[in-house]
Amino acid sequence: MEEKKHALLSASSSHKWLVCPPSARLEEQFPNKESEYMAEGTLAHEIAEFKVRSYFLEAISKTAYTRKLNKLKKSEFFNEEMLRYTDTYLEYIKEEAMKTNTRPFVTVEQKIDYSKYVPEGFGTADCILISSNTLQIIDFKYGKGVKVEAEDNSQLKLYALAALEQFGMFYDIKNIKLSIVQPRIDNISEYILSKDELVKWGNIIVIPQAQKAFMGLGEFKQGEHCRFCRAKGACEFRAKENMKVVEEIENSQDNVSNACRLLDNTELSEVLKRTEGIEEWIKDLRAYALEQILKGENIPGYKAVEGKSNRKIVDIDRAFEILKASGIEEALLYERKPLTLTQLEKAIGKKEIAQTIGDFIEKPKGAPTLAMETDKREPYKVSAAEEFKN
Ligand code: SF4
Repeated sequence: MEEKKHALLSASSSHKWLVCPPSARLEEQFPNKESEYMAEGTLAHEIAEFKVRSYFLEAISKTAYTRKLNKLKKSEFFNEEMLRYTDTYLEYIKEEAMKTNTRPFVTVEQKIDYSKYVPEGFGTADCILISSNTLQIIDFKYGKGVKVEAEDNSQLKLYALAALEQFGMFYDIKNIKLSIVQPRIDNISEYILSKDELVKWGNIIVIPQAQKAFMGLGEFKQGEHCRFCRAKGACEFRAKENMKVVEEIENSQDNVSNACRLLDNTELSEVLKRTEGIEEWIKDLRAYALEQILKGENIPGYKAVEGKSNRKIVDIDRAFEILKASGIEEALLYERKPLTLTQLEKAIGKKEIAQTIGDFIEKPKGAPTLAMETDKREPYKVSAAEEFKN
């Protein structure tokens, strides 16, 4: 989970500072805003921790368990589905623990220190499980926006390095298993590497990059990771890189011809590839400029205006009472419609829905969308009907 007190070079942001070391110091100039979404994740983690702790570490009475759970449920961020998702996490840990013949060592919300590799590096690992020759890091991800893979996951690898330092002397660890449990999108991802591979990565990749990041040195590099960077809207390097691309494209088109003409397919592919990520950058740029204006800064040529908004009834109960009292029939005021599949799953549970009405669920073909060749999804197949239409 997210570290409660953040290290400058936190494990959760390691993918970013390992690729673009100066981002760590650049980000210091921006507040680390805790969104409502993160608060929801924090509560889910607390419930998950409580369940794992109660099962593996602290036997408590049924009454004490219910009392504590009810206390957690009082949070404004609580919803029933959190109980199911945290059960998935607990079940996974139980299954992993059962896989060995010996009783595993289990620890949750373990404070860890990876400062041997990263200056002032510390954090909290959701769950560490050690059995036989394997050290396992299990991370609970409550987000559902981005699917997180365990393969080569630098956050989990840093936790594993720290756990090795802490527990390595007590166990003959040879293998490292990294697991991500992301129940809201049914994602359980696992990755195994040897202890030697992990330590080599720590020495060869992490140490030099972390040193640079800590000192605010190293080379900037833009990419996918920029979307998690707090400096993404104001980063000069990113702006220059993207402007350079636009200028290069302009120049290359000038050289080809001054006449008004269409791009051929090779040029179209080239322009698409080179402008990949520019759309995101412009959004970040606009968001940053608006934020600055709202803070009272002057961005020449720009101002903040009121966006589009929809009218709404403020006191709906009272307004409808008045409508009914004026003789309008209820049938005209309300509509009764079934819940969507997502709403049903949220209210009743995915498993139950699949068991009861699974035969009635189908996934229609999605609309075609442009993707890079490297995308894992299968290429879109045009149906006979679409071909005919075309
Ligand atoms: S926006 Fe991207 S390129 Fe700029 S500092 Fe952040 S991660 Fe690096």
